[in-house]
Amino acid sequence: MSPALLPSALRPVPGPFQLDMVAARYLLIVHGGAALAFVLPWQWRWLPGAVALYVVLGIGTTVGLHRLICHRAFRCPRSVEWALVTAAMLTGQGSPLLWAATHRIHHAFSDVPQDVHSPRRGFWYGHVGWILDRSSVGDDEWRVWCKDLRHDPYYLWLLRFRLVPQFAAIGFVAALEGWAAVPACFLLPMVLWMHATYLVNSASHWSWGSAAWRTGEGSRNVWWVALLALGEGWHNHHHAFPRSARHGLLPGQFDFAWWFICALERLGLAWDVQVPSAATQARRAAAGCQAQPVPLALGSRVN
Ligand SMILES: [Zn+2]
Ligand SMILES: [Zn+2]
Repeated sequence: MSPALLPSALRPVPGPFQLDMVAARYLLIVHGGAALAFVLPWQWRWLPGAVALYVVLGIGTTVGLHRLICHRAFRCPRSVEWALVTAAMLTGQGSPLLWAATHRIHHAFSDVPQDVHSPRRGFWYGHVGWILDRSSVGDDEWRVWCKDLRHDPYYLWLLRFRLVPQFAAIGFVAALEGWAAVPACFLLPMVLWMHATYLVNSASHWSWGSAAWRTGEGSRNVWWVALLALGEGWHNHHHAFPRSARHGLLPGQFDFAWWFICALERLGLAWDVQVPSAATQARRAAAGCQAQPVPLALGSRVN
């Protein structure tokens, strides 16, 4: 968690917007498919499965991709890590190497021109525009930002076959309930979850909510994003303590992902769980909270 400034030469400022047609087609298809849920006949017995899928996708993304492989907020058996990452892959959010690289760049260059998805380029750019922009992140940047992950054979395989888990899940739902169930049981919860994660990048770096810590960028704690994104909305806490497995640091702050990590720990499936002690937090608070704002040309803090 030692703070550091990164020279802007490490990552050039991305060029002008270039529409990524593959991403655009993908988003169009999954959003169109999800919209079919409101047209096709609905079965109430699908509701528990759709809600459960939303939670599974959420846990895979928040616990697996974010807190585990991006920040190493805890350790666990490889089988648990792969299971969590596979759950996240059902969302089609890109391979874990690209996801981790994008997110680590975000922490290193939060809300400065080198950031991948800062809403300072516009709310909708931070929300989804960056995914449609070929210039936002390079295909090979994971080689620089994911040196700890780049030899994992499963993650390397997912670089080429990232949609396989998603297609398998769609096939499973279709075999169980028929193709007419796919929009309501799979695509709708998936698209809703995608937007919950997008809100962490847009709404939690916008002017809503509050900033408990001076982190030198625009991260905010937004309670309703925390509710939708299973705890990820306490984003200012997260930027202040990036390695913390717990984002909802204060009593009463909903953080379902943290509770899941606690359950894993109780089962002996997680250890070395990182949480800043009360003394550490108090020291930072007494010292005027966090780092001074970083000059735009230099980038921001890293964890
Ligand atoms: Zn952020
Ligand atoms: Zn993070």
